[in-house]
Amino acid sequence: MASSRRSVALLGATGSIGTQTLDVLRHEPERFELCALSGGEQLSELAAIAREFSVPRVGVISEAHRATLADLLGPSVEIVVGDEGLRELASTCDVVVNAVLGFAGLPVTLAALAAGKRLALANKESLIAAAPLVEKVRRTPGAVILPVDSEHCAIHQCLASSPGETGYPDVRRLLLTASGGPFRGWSVEQLAGATKRDALQHPTWSMGAKITIDSSTLMNKGLEVLEASALFGIDTPRVDIVVHPQSIVHSMVEYVDGSLLAQLSSPDMRLPIAYCLGLPVRLDHGYGPIDFTQRVELTFEAPDRAAFPAIDLAYEAARVGGAAPAWLSAANEVAVAAFLKDELRWCDIVAVVAGVMDSYVANALDSLEDLVENDATARRLAHGILLP
Ligand code: NAD
Ligand code: MG
Repeated sequence: MASSRRSVALLGATGSIGTQTLDVLRHEPERFELCALSGGEQLSELAAIAREFSVPRVGVISEAHRATLADLLGPSVEIVVGDEGLRELASTCDVVVNAVLGFAGLPVTLAALAAGKRLALANKESLIAAAPLVEKVRRTPGAVILPVDSEHCAIHQCLASSPGETGYPDVRRLLLTASGGPFRGWSVEQLAGATKRDALQHPTWSMGAKITIDSSTLMNKGLEVLEASALFGIDTPRVDIVVHPQSIVHSMVEYVDGSLLAQLSSPDMRLPIAYCLGLPVRLDHGYGPIDFTQRVELTFEAPDRAAFPAIDLAYEAARVGGAAPAWLSAANEVAVAAFLKDELRWCDIVAVVAGVMDSYVANALDSLEDLVENDATARRLAHGILLP
């Protein structure tokens, strides 16, 4: 008998978004079937997930990992390797959750859309770097991007009240909310002494290390401005940032008549994940309700753009266009990785990115080869600044 369940490929299954997606799937066994998985270094976790959900196909990053995983899982599970493996897995199931970290998620984004799949996109870096390429491939019949990122998921919901004409002429602006991260209110002098321990303490969300650091520099919000623009086809001058420390209003859409629509819920990534998996059905789960029997305060303020220059760097990359967003994201990945290895001070993360962007010369992005070359150049320049 053919299964009426929606099949799901979960790529980046062992990470923060990956494990929260598994949590949603555990509660909906009648609705979803996990048909493919991938992960990076955490092979015993990957094997445990494959066993729990009886997953027939698993992707790993190297031949060495294939051998180790094959020992753990036996011959009944097919193991695919590398970018080619990710592309295969992203082309088969009904819904593809891209929860891979960083530029490594690019093959998933492009292959899922080229195969006409629903892409539940957490991996913002691939969309930001490859926006012109994604624009072409998302026209494939059946292809659709649903944003897992909580701000963009909120905007997706608020835009449901628009007729959805190209460029959304009825929308005055998108307002992305930002918690402000652990360093909200810190002065430039205080920020000079920020440590890794401080930076890894996010006030409202528990996430993977890279995005937690991006949230501390507000580069995450800068990247999200680029992400929103690419997702909804709205230029960045119509995308604003507002700091909202409680992380309850996940973002807002201001219409030309002055109406401001918002989506509210307690911070829980399982809510946007479930939205992307279930649409058009809203799954009846317990994620994110707000307890109004307690006093709930919602406050809003402007971001401190002088203390957090990542924001202006992102707007500038959007203004310049071409491969500039890809450079920004690649340089940031290198700088954050160096910071996490204690090779860079917190206050130098964005300085490295700014240094790389200073070298940017206008550069079109017409093909995957162009993109891969630009990504490599930005990374080389970032490493050059790190190790002069
Ligand atoms: P994470 O580091 O916790 O997990 C990343 C996953 O990708 C892991 O399964 C890891 O094994 C895999 N991976 C890492 N490098 C890889 C490589 N080179 N090749 C293949 N697989 C690789 O990250 P996360 O916090 O879950 O974030 C994943 C993505 O979702 C990021 O793009 C992030 O910006 C985005 N996102 C995360 C959150 C969150 O709450 N964690 C919220 C919004 C958006
Ligand atoms: Mg977000």
